[in-house]
Amino acid sequence: MSVPDQRSGGRGSAQGGAAGRREDGAREAGEHPEVAALLARSHRLGADPRNTNYAGGNTSAKGTATDPVTGESVDLMWVKGSGGDLGTLRPEGLAALRLDRLRALTGVYPGVGREDEMVAAFDYCLHGKGGAAPSIDTAMHGLLPVAHVDHLHPDSGIALACAADGEELTRECFGDRVAWVPWRRPGFQLGLDIAAVREARPEAIGCVLGGHGITAWGESGEECEDNSLHIIRTAERFLQERGAAEPFGPPREGFGPLAEDERRERAAALAPLVRGLVSRDRAQVGHWEDAPEVLEFLSREAHPRLAALGTSCPDHFLRTKVRPLVLDLPARAPLEEAVARLRELHEEYRADYRAYYERHADASSPPMRGADPAVVLVPGVGMFSFGKDKQTARVAGEFYRNAIRVMRGAESVSSYAPIEESEKFRIEYWELEEAKLRRMPAPKPLATRIALVTGAGSGIGRAIARRLAAEGACVVVADVDEDSARKVAEELGGPDRAVAVAVDVTSEEQIAAAFRAAVLAFGGVDLVVNNAGISISKPLAETTAEDWDRQHSIMARGSFLVSREAARVMGEQGMGGDLVYIASKNGVFAGPNNVAYGAAKADQAHQVRLLAAELGASGIRVNGVNPDGVVRGSGIFAGGWGAQRAAVYGVPEEELGQFYARRTLLGREVLPEHVANAVFALTGGDLSHTTGLHIPVDAGVAAAFLR
Ligand code: NAD
Repeated sequence: MSVPDQRSGGRGSAQGGAAGRREDGAREAGEHPEVAALLARSHRLGADPRNTNYAGGNTSAKGTATDPVTGESVDLMWVKGSGGDLGTLRPEGLAALRLDRLRALTGVYPGVGREDEMVAAFDYCLHGKGGAAPSIDTAMHGLLPVAHVDHLHPDSGIALACAADGEELTRECFGDRVAWVPWRRPGFQLGLDIAAVREARPEAIGCVLGGHGITAWGESGEECEDNSLHIIRTAERFLQERGAAEPFGPPREGFGPLAEDERRERAAALAPLVRGLVSRDRAQVGHWEDAPEVLEFLSREAHPRLAALGTSCPDHFLRTKVRPLVLDLPARAPLEEAVARLRELHEEYRADYRAYYERHADASSPPMRGADPAVVLVPGVGMFSFGKDKQTARVAGEFYRNAIRVMRGAESVSSYAPIEESEKFRIEYWELEEAKLRRMPAPKPLATRIALVTGAGSGIGRAIARRLAAEGACVVVADVDEDSARKVAEELGGPDRAVAVAVDVTSEEQIAAAFRAAVLAFGGVDLVVNNAGISISKPLAETTAEDWDRQHSIMARGSFLVSREAARVMGEQGMGGDLVYIASKNGVFAGPNNVAYGAAKADQAHQVRLLAAELGASGIRVNGVNPDGVVRGSGIFAGGWGAQRAAVYGVPEEELGQFYARRTLLGREVLPEHVANAVFALTGGDLSHTTGLHIPVDAGVAAAFLR
């Protein structure tokens, strides 16, 4: 994401200063005062992106509570569990453990080779039910003989942790107050290591964990928080004051940022291709950003060397993959050259990734999860990042920006030296990580699909947008009425789920711009619904040439133009796709006073067949829905068409819906949601071998049966 403070999961707001802390604690109103204070501290720390990356780090507090079984006082520890972000931590995001039992685990600890077994043992230390699953870092918090512990991933701290001479720099930066703990994969042994450091160095307020982050402690929550912030801010100052001016080296000729318009144009031109490439193993949603720190990194001599070293903090590379794919051409290289080179580099990336897997995997390793990159860097243009949904894609980009800051800090005082590749592999293919993935809920049917629905600000289009979003699609709500489009996009959950674009489908330029906005928002487009429409109901003699042209330019010509642009983007992606036309019963049934509308609908209906025939070879399916009599929620009916049709049929306008229902075979009224159901039926996966079909959604109108 391009705006640093648009924190991924929606971070809590910062409440600075010791004075406000107690009050915040009371306001958070957890069950136990220690819990309330811990949540407030976590929110303050998590609200500032300098303190920890999204969903990174964990905090804990120890205290006493009454055991409901014995009535006696017991020592407990509340610690942030697996998942979630510090900035928005809730009581249910904490695990509560019995301290005596947790510490007794040292007696059965089988050694570092089998330390993973201890994670299952944490469950036997839980106090009561509910709460989050204890995370791998539980031992670090529990084994430290201090009441409060913060484990954080600040960019400044990781920069020291990933500097080649991090240990000396830590000493230089903090003297005796902060210890150095060499890299060790998170787990029980790391907890024992840190506890030993605390015992040997009672004067220390925390430690820098090599290759990873920081841990700070204190006897009170305030002291712990102050110690965390002291370490983070001191490291920031140290890097700033002591650091070299150009840590990424001199500017590289031709690799500087393009002007903003040119950058967007280029990003939009490359996005579908890049998304198609990185979706070889499984489809991914994309995110593009051109934050100054990304462009600056890519404009410097050192970026190829540093990018090749990959990210370091486990949180980072789990999201970004061990390393990004970097286009090695200047910003203004001809587009065709850039496209060809990206294809080559992608093949190389996949081969390298497979080799990395094969170098480190053993018989017990989970199978390779896919060899496509999660981050693609294009000098002058920015960063494309990918994931199973928009939020994951955006966070991958955010993490790579964290990694850039880490590299900047480390290179400014030393040289960047992330953990060994073999250690990265151990984390990426860790059985505990694999188990976490297995526990994930099954993806929704339209997960990873990017839909663009025209006329989605109202009626049937809005119902389609809602349904596609509910089934997991990212939705581009396209409408000539910008306000209504924006409202629908907001209702669907905002930019991680849906974006609004203003588009008049009679304009080629606006359609091209709408698709550019779509590919910049989500990486590409897979499912396009031609729904925008208007209705003019007049007898032949009263139908003007303007009426005819307007009706046709929005529906017949408009859907042709939208389909043409959609097919272009889908062709570049090479991932197939769906085009769906919301045609009409009136494209089949010859009703009175309807020549312009009915003829335009018949035109759309034949586009379905023509394009199904033409685009099948590209894996693009083209189908249609023929609704009828959708009165409720339809702007068309509210805007005069209803009155005209009611007059034609000789019924009061408010009874038109029931009138249509009565003349159907099923006797049921058709609602926008029923049309949306048909769109989902066509695109949700079950009709994968169907193209060129029209589905009537009219409650049964024999005169409109398709033959
Ligand atoms: P609606 O008026 O509620 O929605 C149509 C939307 O299209 C509106 O948001 C409008 O702003 C938008 N639009 C109009 N002109 C546009 C343009 N030039 N560019 C972009 N957007 C534009 O109507 P509805 O009933 O939901 O109809 C949606 C589609 O369903 C239309 O194609 C219509 O012909 C078709 N349809 C409707 C019925 C029905 O009974 N309501 C029946 C069969 C087919």
